[in-house]
Amino acid sequence: MKYISTRGNAPALAFSEILLGGLAPDGGLYMPEAYPRFTAQDLDAMRAMDYRQLAFAILSRLVDDIPQADLKALVDKTYTTEAYSHGRADSDFSQITPVRTLTQDVHILELSNGPTLAFKDMAMQLLGNLFEYALDKAGRDINILGATSGDTGSAAEYAMRGKKGVRVFMLSPVEGMTAFQQAQMYSLQDANIHNIVVRGVFDDCQDIVKAVSNDLEFKHRYRIGAVNSINWARVAAQVIYYFKAYFAVTGDNAQQVDFSVPSGNFGNVCAGHIARMMGLPIHRLIVATNENDVLDEFFRTGVYRPRGAAQTWHTSSPSMDISKASNFERFIFDLTGRDAAQVRQLWSAVDRGDAFDLNPGGLFGQVQGYGFVSGSSSHANRIETICRVWQDHGVMIDPHTADGLKVGLEQRTPGVPLVCLETALPAKFADAIQEALGRAPERPHGLENLESLPRRFEVVDAQADAVKGIVVAHAND
Ligand SMILES: *Cc1c(COP(=O)(O)O)cnc(C)c1O
Repeated sequence: MKYISTRGNAPALAFSEILLGGLAPDGGLYMPEAYPRFTAQDLDAMRAMDYRQLAFAILSRLVDDIPQADLKALVDKTYTTEAYSHGRADSDFSQITPVRTLTQDVHILELSNGPTLAFKDMAMQLLGNLFEYALDKAGRDINILGATSGDTGSAAEYAMRGKKGVRVFMLSPVEGMTAFQQAQMYSLQDANIHNIVVRGVFDDCQDIVKAVSNDLEFKHRYRIGAVNSINWARVAAQVIYYFKAYFAVTGDNAQQVDFSVPSGNFGNVCAGHIARMMGLPIHRLIVATNENDVLDEFFRTGVYRPRGAAQTWHTSSPSMDISKASNFERFIFDLTGRDAAQVRQLWSAVDRGDAFDLNPGGLFGQVQGYGFVSGSSSHANRIETICRVWQDHGVMIDPHTADGLKVGLEQRTPGVPLVCLETALPAKFADAIQEALGRAPERPHGLENLESLPRRFEVVDAQADAVKGIVVAHAND
């Protein structure tokens, strides 16, 4: 299995060769050169598998340059009940991603029981083990530089803490993260984790990461890497739980399922698209956005019109405050019939800050054939949904999951089971829960005193040189 670029001008590479990198050298994203397909017989066999077995069955079709026994060991080490047992006390953690049934045909897929209480742990924990393995094999080390507004940074830090050959330098804005998110990150005491608090906003953090990464001499000398949402291994790891959920809510493989996915960078729902391309009987993939509804606009109208920072609203589902979906190009590559020249042409418009329209030429007409529909949710919608689910079912959900459920219930197919992906636990977003329910969110066991733990971080002005200085000081620790 080789990986090719959506822009068509980069050499095809094996999984391990794209594992540590980001974009392909031609600016595209890596995709499998062809999707492995599971047959009806394969699916029958997979139905009986537990999470680790399923993860291996899927990943072994996507990874062929890591010895199978090693890949199996990495999967078994990652997907343990212990690592994914931070959720509600009554969850069946042995399932790794348990399904919680609200009504007969409406389910929540618990993806947020990992160490940082967000679905990003599902992929990031595997990435931590893959990175350590691959770096050791290559005799290399890496300095991961990133910017976070909350969930990504903490998931990356908890995945990489204590890993040999890996150091993390994570920039976060002085304001903007919830108190819980700050405590989660800054309380890490591991020597290889460096929290850098920037006197600025999230966009300043991102600009600094770009500036440092664009200094190629520095990047090379200090072995700078990233773990952002375009990383192929992250997308691949997210494919697994679509299969797990499908088997959990169906009795046989003739049935179909709708998935509703709270979306920002289109990483999570892209994994659903890939699961479907690999043969999973998914009927609809419901893309749920908040007020930052660029993706909803596309799936309703065929026009993709990314927005800049000035037109990106700060909402109460902040992890979806994204107006340029970094993984969207992967789907468009498939939609064009894998026409890299057309993808290059479409993204030359995006890179100029323009929109593209897939109505002329008829491509938009083919979107529904891939199962995609969409909708958006507002602050009032998510508060109302949190309230209703709490009253009717005694289940407390976070604002992102509420966006997904709201849109899912609107866009689902009658008679088809609906699975809503739970992308975070309410404990991370106390303000929204307080507003909706007039009380503080439930705290998972063991995290009661998170805010009072000692903190470890450095504060810098919003300047690339200050950040470079910290990297230089620790790059060889
Ligand atoms: C990252 C994140 C999302 C968006 O996921 P994408 O893969 O970027 O679409 C949604 N909800 C939460 C809580 C997140 O952390």
